[in-house]
Amino acid sequence: MDCIFCKILKGEIPAHTVYEDEHVYAFLDISQWTRGHTLIIPKKHVRNVYELNDETATVVAKAIPKVARALKEAFDPIGLNIINNNDKPHQTVYHFHVHLLPRYEDDGVVLNGTNQQDNLSDKDYRQIKESIIDALGKKK
Ligand code: 5GP
Ligand code: ZN
Repeated sequence: MDCIFCKILKGEIPAHTVYEDEHVYAFLDISQWTRGHTLIIPKKHVRNVYELNDETATVVAKAIPKVARALKEAFDPIGLNIINNNDKPHQTVYHFHVHLLPRYEDDGVVLNGTNQQDNLSDKDYRQIKESIIDALGKKK
């Protein structure tokens, strides 16, 4: 199956992992619309929300607040958007995913799917990833 996210799960395409358990995987969105922009996906390939069963919906839903709290701890954003695109006009990768998008003062984000921050180095991604992993490890 030609799915980018399944290839990431198989290790065929590299990604910056921030969290994973038996059922879900969270990694930095390559576009980094804002610092810490993270995707959460089920390990099971599901095209989009219309194919989610109760079990898969539950494991993804449980991971969302966990990673959201880590993003807040790591980057102290002023807010956070949770976004999920299904079919038109915005879904580009057909493996169900939830965007966690930390928001910052004057970050210029327009929620129309056209944001791109592509001037990051691999060191930048690693620093962002480590900050989130550190925050996940902190018990509050
Ligand atoms: P969608 O528009 O389908 O909701 O979002 C798909 C997201 O996947 C986009 O924000 C895009 O930047 C991200 N993406 C696409 N290909 C890759 C990839 O190979 N690696 C990572 N980390 N993110 C990707
Ligand atoms: Zn897939």
